[in-house]
Amino acid sequence: MFLPEAVTIREVGPRDGLQAESRPWPTEAKVELINGLLRTGVRRLEVTSFVRPGAIPQLADAEAVLAAIDRVEGVRLSALVPNRTGMERAVRSGIHEASFFVAASEAFNQHNLRRSTEAALADAAAAAELGREHGLLLSGFVVTAFGCPYEGRVPPDAVLRVVEAYARLGVQSVYLGDTIGVAHPRQVYELARAVGDRFPELELGLHFHNTRGAALANVLAGLEAGVTVFDGAVGGLGGCPYATGATGNVATEDLVDMLEAMGVATGIDLDALLACARLAERHAGRQLSSHVLRAGKRPA
Ligand code: MG
Repeated sequence: MFLPEAVTIREVGPRDGLQAESRPWPTEAKVELINGLLRTGVRRLEVTSFVRPGAIPQLADAEAVLAAIDRVEGVRLSALVPNRTGMERAVRSGIHEASFFVAASEAFNQHNLRRSTEAALADAAAAAELGREHGLLLSGFVVTAFGCPYEGRVPPDAVLRVVEAYARLGVQSVYLGDTIGVAHPRQVYELARAVGDRFPELELGLHFHNTRGAALANVLAGLEAGVTVFDGAVGGLGGCPYATGATGNVATEDLVDMLEAMGVATGIDLDALLACARLAERHAGRQLSSHVLRAGKRPA
């Protein structure tokens, strides 16, 4: 079986997980979780989002969180940035990477992000200019890359158009997001190959939800297509506030457990990560969807 020797995991729980919590976490709880995650060996961490504070009250304390967390050498901190105002905040906060987010489906952009695809990409372009001036890394997140709650199946061409627009903005990486948890392995393999073949200069990452239990199978399909960057959320926190029934992101510990068992290095200490997942569960006040948190580590 062909497998890479190592992959890069991006921990997105503090952003993607916490934005879906019905009860916003206190800033100190977020800081405690992030500081724990920073010591797991993870090298990329999505901390928060610089959207309008009223739009996602759960992440309204973006500046306070970024001011309070530890800075750990070698960990790339990222945040979502919708427009130039968001980029100004991102620049001031000292993050390393700004991530744009635009859906591949027009209806999702209109209904949930309250802008047309074209307007969202124009906002990203204005923000990209400022980000580049300040030396930030830029990445583009393609929302609803595998399916949309309004439009159903999203054609690969719609995804490629957004990726192409991101490439023109000068992003280093693109992430394909399965926002409502409908991706299946064949679709993942084919879309990842299509994006990778057409944009070999872009780093490609994949972001899955375990809504239908296919997240790890989708990761495997991504690996087979040559992808080496995957998002996970500690404990399986999160979901999508815009997509009814979308359960959590794939749990980072489930991802790490499977990959390490297969001999694919993640650089992440599973014990340290499981301690963070237990902390996340305590703060969330409910059982999270992680499998390895219940099953425990594999016998050596
Ligand atoms: Mg997600």
